Amino acid sequence: MWQFYVKHNHSVGLHSGEGAMTKSEYLGRREFMGIATGTTLAARAALAGSSETIAVSEPFNFAVIADPHCAEVPKTGLEVYGNGVEKFLRCFEKMKELPKEEQPDFALIAGDIHPEALAPHLDTITLPLHVVAGNHEGSNETRGLLRAMFPHDFGSGGAVRDYYAFTHKGIRFIASCDAGAGGDHIGHFSSELIAPHGQCDWLEKELQRPEPRKVLFAHIPPALDDVERNMYMGRNDSRWFLELVRETKPEMLFFGHLHHPTEEHQIGNTRCINVRSCCWNFQNAPVGFLLVRVGAERMEFREIITGTCADKA
Ligand SMILES: [Zn+2]
Repeated sequence: MWQFYVKHNHSVGLHSGEGAMTKSEYLGRREFMGIATGTTLAARAALAGSSETIAVSEPFNFAVIADPHCAEVPKTGLEVYGNGVEKFLRCFEKMKELPKEEQPDFALIAGDIHPEALAPHLDTITLPLHVVAGNHEGSNETRGLLRAMFPHDFGSGGAVRDYYAFTHKGIRFIASCDAGAGGDHIGHFSSELIAPHGQCDWLEKELQRPEPRKVLFAHIPPALDDVERNMYMGRNDSRWFLELVRETKPEMLFFGHLHHPTEEHQIGNTRCINVRSCCWNFQNAPVGFLLVRVGAERMEFREIITGTCADKA
């Protein structure tokens, strides 16, 4: 299922970092560690009761991994864990050590993957992956490579798409692309590099589908305080997206891009999680990923830390 044929000798210019963060860019965030507290799902449960769609009949798990940056050299303080792709593969090794009941069915990869560095190792990952592009996949070449590596989600030939959705055990998973051309660190749903045009219409339809429980993931998070700044969706994209989320009430959202310790926000009834990178984080914060448990009525998640900076160990 994971076999593909791509050329590996690409010479691709990649950004090595996301730029310095200012204190104001942390506004409104709440650091998260351990198991999250839940959201009331009474409204959603009531909706599920009246829906013809199938409720989750058996609990399952999925992983969320952000910003693997596979092509990056070992980071200062994290040298012992190797380069980017080695730190990414370490996440899957950690998953294998989990007890059977915690094994994930698949992993969502929230962008900034560096597909040319992952490609030679992809067949060593046995877990199904569902990926979205990040700003590091902001050229025709990198976007094309990502599509070629994951044709089951992105399609092929003249039918490629950078956004897609699938249903797993009654839950609708929506993969949105908010990373455009040229490596722009500001997110937007329309770009000459995001194919096909019309993602906003598609997203409105997806979030209004009958499945009562939905999960959305993308690379760049929305700005929650209506302020235009770097590293988040643009102001107008944020406004439109937040309104859509409040109206359609997906259960959980996952984003990467920030390289902060994992943080949780609330958007109406929806939990919005900005996930730490598994490659490096600002202020030498530990690296890791999320394990999400999907129960009959709610989702819980916990972080699995895969590396700690030497000066913080
Ligand atoms: Zn990014």
